[in-house]
Amino acid sequence: MTTTRTLLTAVPSPDQESVTAWMQAGNCRRYETEVFFPSDGAGVDRARAICSRCPIVDQCLDYALENRIEHGVWGGCSERERRRILRRRNLAPAV
Ligand code: SF4
Repeated sequence: MTTTRTLLTAVPSPDQESVTAWMQAGNCRRYETEVFFPSDGAGVDRARAICSRCPIVDQCLDYALENRIEHGVWGGCSERERRRILRRRNLAPAV
């Protein structure tokens, strides 16, 4: 079984590979992918703790939000937290 987080998504095209190259620096590469798809709150907390020490946490969260990734913990946020962020952004007035 692979621990490579990038394999969770569809196989990227050559153009997409450069877009997702930053994922190679993620802490999640050292863990089983299941860790980032928890089934309970304790699991979410564990994934968040790993993300909190990740050097690319902000980039990861931005990627998940921009691509509307619905499942798993990305950038230290659960699905529910990402939905909340997106709702807040949609409600925010344009600058
Ligand atoms: S923030 Fe979390 S999910 Fe994103 S790359 Fe880092 S460890 Fe992986």
